Parts: sequence; C-alpha cells; structure tokens
Amino acid sequence: MKKNSNLQELMGYAGGHRYLTYLSLLLSAVSAILALFPFVFLFRIIQEVLAVAPNYAQATHVVRNGWTAVGFAVLSIVIYVCALMSSHLSAFRIAGNIRKALMAHIAELPLGFIGEMGSGKIRRIVNDSSAATETYLAHQLPDMSAAITTPVCMIVMLFLFDWRFGLVSLLPVILGFAAMFKMAGPSMAEDMKRYQNALADMNNEAVEYVRGVPVVKTFGQTVHSFQRFKGTIDSYYDFVMSYCKKCRPSMLSYTVLVNSAFAFLIVLALILTGGGPVAQPVLLNFIFYVIFTPLIATAMTKVMFMSENGMIVADAMSRIHSILDAEPLPEPRGGRVPTDNDITLENVTFRYTGGITDALHDVTIRAGAGETVALVGPSGGGKTTVAGLISRFWDVTGGSIQIGGVNVKDIPKDTLMDTVAYVFQDSRLLKASILENVRLARPDASRQEVERVLHEAQCDDIIQKLPQGIDTVIGTKGVYLSGGEQQRIAIARVMLKNAPILILDEATAFADPENEALVQRAFEKLSKGKTVIMIAHRLTTIKNAGRIFVLREGHVEESGTHDTLVAGGGLYAKLWQDYQTSVSWKVGAAK
Ligand code: ADP
Repeated sequence: MKKNSNLQELMGYAGGHRYLTYLSLLLSAVSAILALFPFVFLFRIIQEVLAVAPNYAQATHVVRNGWTAVGFAVLSIVIYVCALMSSHLSAFRIAGNIRKALMAHIAELPLGFIGEMGSGKIRRIVNDSSAATETYLAHQLPDMSAAITTPVCMIVMLFLFDWRFGLVSLLPVILGFAAMFKMAGPSMAEDMKRYQNALADMNNEAVEYVRGVPVVKTFGQTVHSFQRFKGTIDSYYDFVMSYCKKCRPSMLSYTVLVNSAFAFLIVLALILTGGGPVAQPVLLNFIFYVIFTPLIATAMTKVMFMSENGMIVADAMSRIHSILDAEPLPEPRGGRVPTDNDITLENVTFRYTGGITDALHDVTIRAGAGETVALVGPSGGGKTTVAGLISRFWDVTGGSIQIGGVNVKDIPKDTLMDTVAYVFQDSRLLKASILENVRLARPDASRQEVERVLHEAQCDDIIQKLPQGIDTVIGTKGVYLSGGEQQRIAIARVMLKNAPILILDEATAFADPENEALVQRAFEKLSKGKTVIMIAHRLTTIKNAGRIFVLREGHVEESGTHDTLVAGGGLYAKLWQDYQTSVSWKVGAAK
C-alpha cells in the first residue's frame, strides 16, 4: 500500500512523462517474456537431436532453431534497452522536478529551519534522496515488472512441457521461500530502519571527525580520541555482524534450495524410469528442465530484492518529506508596514524545537529608532537567539516582537527583509565576482554604487590587491580572502541594501588588529542613522552603545550604559574586568 502511494506520488512529479514510465513497465514485461522463447527452441533442438540419434546428420532443423533462439534473445535485449530509455527519460524528469520542488520550498522556509537541519543534511537530501528515486524509477521499477512477469510465464512453461517435472522444479522454490519467510516480515523492516540509523550516525560522526582533523593533527591524536566516532563504527559493526548471523541460516537454506532444483529433478527422473531403461520423452524433459530451472534462481532473487528496493525508496521519500512537510512561517494576510524603526521585545520566551529548556525566558529589550543597543554576556546566554527572532528565523513561543509598533508576524515577509539586515559572524560569499556578491543585496544597483559601498566598507585595500579588481571571482585559484576581509565585503553588501535596522554579529577572531580596526570602521559607517542590535564579543566596541543588555542563561541579567553597569558591580562589571585583564595579558605576552 505504502509502496503504491510512493509510486503515485513520484508519478505526480512526472507530468506528461508518466506515460513513459508505464511504457517502460510494459516493454520490460514484453522483453522478459521474449527472453523465455529461446528455451522453447532449445527444447526443439534437444528433441530433434534425441529423435535422430545416433544419425545426427538427419537433424536438419537445428541451425534454424538455433538462429531463431538467438533472434528472440536479441529482440528481448533490444526491447529492454527501449524500456530503459523511456524509464530514464521519465526518471530524470521526476528527480529534476523533486529537486526543483525542494529548492522552491527551502526558499520559503525560515532560516532557523535551515540552521537546525544543517546545510549538509539538506544538501544530501536534495542530491542523494532525489537520486535514489531516480535509480528506483529508471532501473528497479522496470526490473520489477520483469521480475513479476518472468516467474508467472515460467510457471506456465514448467507445466506446459511436463507437469510432473514442473511441479518438482517448483518444490525447492517453495521451500526456499518458506525459509526466507522467517527472515523477512515486520522484524526486517525494523532491522532495516536500525541499519539506516546506524549508517546515518556513523556518517554524521565521520563529518565531525573530518572537521576535527586539524585538532587531531595539532595534538598528535589518533582516531581513537574520537570516542563517539569510534563508538558509532563499533555499533554499526556489531549491528551488521549480528544481523548477518541472524540472516545466515535462512539465506543459506534459500540459496542452496533454489540452486538445487536439478537434484530434485534427478530424484524424479529415477522414480519415473523405475530402474529400467530411460524412455526418450523422459530424457528429453529431464534435460530441458535441468537447463531451464537455473533461471528460477535468478528470477526469484530479483523478486526478493523488490521489497528491499521498495524500502530504500520509501526511506528516500520520507527524507524528502522531512523538508517538504516543514511549514513556512505563516505569512500575514494584508500585512502592515511599520512606519518607524524602533524595536521592542516584550516578555519574549522561546524554545527551540526539541529543546528541553527555554533558550529565552521573559526577555524584554527596547531599542529606539536610530539607537545602538548591544547584547553581551557569556556564551549560550541567548544573544544569537534574540537576533534571529527579530529577523523572524523562528516565531516566539511567548510574548511579542514589534518593529515600529507592528508585530513582526504581521509584517509581510518582503517588507521585513527590506527592513532588517543581518551581518553574520561568518559571512559566506558566493563563488562569484565581488561585484556580483555585493549586488546580491540589490540586483539593480549600478557599478558606481557598488564601488561606493565597497569604499565605505573599507574594502579599498582588498580590491587593489585583486587581479581584476571588483570583477575578480572569489574562490578561484590564488584568490584568498581572510575572515575579516570577507566580513568587510559582506558589510558592503548590507550597506547597498540600506535597511533601516541592522543586526551585527561581530566576528570573534581576526588574525590581525589592522583588519579588526577596518571592520570596526566599516561597522561604524554602516550603522550611521540606523537602529542597531549588536552582538558584541569585544567589549571595547560597545563602550559607546546607547544601552547594553547583559544576557545570561536566557534572561536579561542587567541593562544600562557602560558606565552605570561598571559602577553597578554586577555581571557586566566582572566581564569588563576579565576583558581588560585578558587584553593586558595579550599586550604583555606580545612584548
Ligand atoms: P549566545 O549567542 O549567547 O552564545 P545562543 O542564542 O546561541 O547563545 O543560545 C542560547 C541557548 O539556546 C543555548 O542554551 C543553546 O544551547 C540553545 N540553542 C541555540 N541554538 C539552538 C538550536 N538550533 N537548537 C536547540 N538549542 C539551541
């Protein structure tokens, strides 16, 4: 039932090409039937040879029958190729359409979802899961049609020639399937799920391991120091070994049985001859069935894998649905456009999906239009979450967020995007020219405008050192930009957008103080006249902020100006003291 609905859903992506899939099923079945015909002619050859023995010269039809057998074999192959061609045309279309649907849906989803799922996983689903449907539709489905047709025709043929031999040929197949039946069933689907999970865990940990290679190398460690990675490999190994052991008796019996049809035939032949001389028709049928029955093993093995293929595509579909079923945040109907640029978070509570505690609890923060407000506090305090909520990467669990007095939920998505700009800590630049990268913010901007914002964002030194200036493509050979340089270009991009509200996430580490100073100056130019929420890691950068909110464990611990907070002697005063000690330590260490 499930398989059907998966197929129906896949066909929904095929459009007019679905008929090609149906055609491929038909052609594949025809090809499977034709593939059995050579055996009929083989039978005739054996029949004739036995009839004329020992005067073999009288066997005049052998060559013709031989060529006819070859003819059918070739025809069967040609038709199979046609089946594959039509199945591929449709499968490529379907996989392409699934990818398009996924990408279109991802563009609608809030950024928070993308962050939570991880871009790696999303990429794998878009690429690999849609590719799995392609393998299924292009190869496995037509093969399945053949796998069903072949045994049906074979059973007819088995009984057509000599029903006694036919019955005996089927006996090992029935016994083999009985043995397999023990292995399959609901426990197999459960095991398959466990297998996929063990594999996914191991893959995830492998990615972590590769990320951690610099650390491993720096500290001269080995793979054994990645206990979790090793743990997932071990549990994968344990699972696969125990699963193999569990399957071994059934698999062994099945393989032995379906391949031993000839032994059953010999017993029958001995019974039929009853110890006397071999009658010619018995010999003829015996030879024919011995040649024909190995086909059963091949056909049955294909039937067996059908359910596994079904499971793989079901798994791919459920992964695809993990994206397609994610709801975009509700878009306000006839939304309202804020007329002012002040921001108010009122008693905001927020919990991440699957989180056990609130990431933010009863947080109230206000930033007047044109004011710069800084968020500081220990890591994990909730700064990034506040910034994400203002940009509506997620919706609040409780309380409200307003811009210019309008709840962000009531502001149309496009308006909100034009109103709030976010400079991320690790601003990603695309593999495109600097001009194109900056223009992403406003595709109709002129070259002069882009040059102006690059200048404002302190990027002159970057442009000068690049071979083709602003037309240099980032990521090409020999073009390398440091983190600070990338962030300055990202600032230029946001400048071009010219949104009235800015969220700045200061990068934590710059290689050199010169870069740091330039980024700082670019931030200042960008912030002029705007409402700014700044996530600050270096406290000197926010000394002049209008107000500072200190977040700890998801709530506002204290707020005020730098001077009042230092005088208050609370958490901020301690952070400030620690910060100054670390700066003087750095200066001392540099001497
Ligand atoms: P900060 O920016 O101050 O370091 P965050 O806003 O990143 O803090 O995190 C606040 C809390 O929310 C932390 O306890 C963190 O573990 C949790 N958190 C952050 N992102 C997620 C997420 N995607 N899923 C679940 N919990 C998260």
